[in-house]
Amino acid sequence: MLSIYKKLNLEMGKVLIIGAGGVGTVVAHKVAQLPHVFNEVVLASRTKSKCDAIVKAIGRSDIQTGQVDADNVPELVALFNRFKPDLVINVALPYQDLTIMDACLETGVHYLDTANYEPKEEAKFEYSWQWAYQDRFEKAGLTAILGCGFDPGVTNVYTAYAAKHHFDEIHELDIVDANAGSHGHAFATNFNPEINIREVTQKGKYWENGKWVITEPHEIHKPLTYPEIGPKESYVIYHEELESLVKNFPTLKRARFWMTFGQEYLTHLRVIQNIGMARIDPIVYKGVEIVPIQFLKEVLPNPGDLGENYTGWTSIGCRIKGIKDGKEKTYYVYNNCSHEAAYKETGTQGISYTTGVPAMIGAKMFLEGKWKKPGVWNVEQFNPDPFMADLNTYGLPWKELHNVDLEV
Ligand code: NDP
Repeated sequence: MLSIYKKLNLEMGKVLIIGAGGVGTVVAHKVAQLPHVFNEVVLASRTKSKCDAIVKAIGRSDIQTGQVDADNVPELVALFNRFKPDLVINVALPYQDLTIMDACLETGVHYLDTANYEPKEEAKFEYSWQWAYQDRFEKAGLTAILGCGFDPGVTNVYTAYAAKHHFDEIHELDIVDANAGSHGHAFATNFNPEINIREVTQKGKYWENGKWVITEPHEIHKPLTYPEIGPKESYVIYHEELESLVKNFPTLKRARFWMTFGQEYLTHLRVIQNIGMARIDPIVYKGVEIVPIQFLKEVLPNPGDLGENYTGWTSIGCRIKGIKDGKEKTYYVYNNCSHEAAYKETGTQGISYTTGVPAMIGAKMFLEGKWKKPGVWNVEQFNPDPFMADLNTYGLPWKELHNVDLEV
């Protein structure tokens, strides 16, 4: 069958997925469903047995697996030279972004990820480190696609789509992210606990009138109404896509990110912080150096295993206010994803699903030549239309509402 596609000269290529966690599981399932685009697939991670288990669940024995420490550039280079992928889909942790980008430059491989680089020793989310690779990727003729999950990712594409089709100028952007699912645990995080807790315990930050406004963690909150879900208390937190969106859409006067948290989750989070378990600096315990938040990750439920009993919906979207034909208008574009449906298809919960599907679509956009230009790009810098069409086809259909009360 593959040779037919080749004869038809359809765009196709070889991808290497790095990371065999919840998101990696979804990416592997989704690329495996499209052999006419992803004609060869390799899945590599720190623990090879996890890659083998995912491939077994998918049931396609031609998907190869490998072991790699993605903190180590020579190991990555050896892996890339062995498998010779066209594109690497990085769904390991944000700590590995720069080493993987270095290895891409050394071996001539294109790059895509879902989260911006973070140094291990400091919870600091900014694109500066990756944007600094712009000239090197451009000179090498390589494309790097940054932040192609849901948020960042789909939320950036939603914004680009709204700006292209529904506004002459966008002025206010509120990204709203609700997880109204229930996993049955007293406390669990929906993606890597270390990354998640670092993100949600930092100070709030949003863009207003040309500068960043800093708040105490979770200081600004109010109930927002989510489709099919209803009102949920939502909190302004800093999220990385705000940085690239305010740069790429300079007409924005205000840009904020809201996330829902339950009272039980916030209480656990407060206790975790108060007793020092969210610390990211090493402490010595019985002569061994441990980082409390990394130890905590080991005792918390594995996000990849939450799917089985997860019920309910996620709802993530963009609420936008701006001007069209001289008149003020509002626009709300969103997706609702069912945890049960995500589990049925891929064996993981909705958060991993909503991240992994866009990563697959971004990789497809690249291989089809629709999102291919040398340099380092955030996803809103590409044409949103083919990506929006594929969201409807591959599991994350969206809806839009015009001139509604945005509540924000
Ligand atoms: P998990 O912790 O479930 O999985 C991470 C995987 O990366 C694990 O398999 C882990 O290996 C592997 N890994 C970690 N360090 C290394 C290393 N040094 N070398 C090789 N492999 C390594 O995380 P998730 O799947 O939940 O998240 C994956 C990524 O997706 C993260 O970067 C996260 O920030 C991002 N994300 C993005 C979202 C978005 O919407 N944009 C939303 C949610 C997540 P091992 O199994 O051995 O530990």
